[in-house]
Amino acid sequence: MGMSQVVILRRRNGQESKGTAVLVVPQPSVQITKAAVVGVSSVVLAVGSLAIPIAHFLLPWMIPLASGIYVYSTLTDKGRLTEVRGECPACQQSVKLEGGALERPMWRSCPECGDPVDLELATSG
Ligand SMILES: [Zn+2]
Repeated sequence: MGMSQVVILRRRNGQESKGTAVLVVPQPSVQITKAAVVGVSSVVLAVGSLAIPIAHFLLPWMIPLASGIYVYSTLTDKGRLTEVRGECPACQQSVKLEGGALERPMWRSCPECGDPVDLELATSG
């Protein structure tokens, strides 16, 4: 389900090297379905919680707020990088870096020399 991509490993001083990573991109239809299910059920739960003593002070606004944050992060998810491997631009060692949600910038530290390395997909701007 992931695609192998070329990534650029860049130091703060601009030195770069190339590496590879597997990009796992969520399918838009799955994201929209998840967002809709969470959005609708949060409204149902929030309305239902109005009948619960004491909880009705908190839940009617906490549930929609939490679901709103979830829906936003689901719809703005650009994918995740895993299996990030390449040559560290600082120490020139072959290293495996920690992946994670795709973002700009995406700072990771080299496991060999500890230097901060910014990961960027070679295909993106
Ligand atoms: Zn290094």
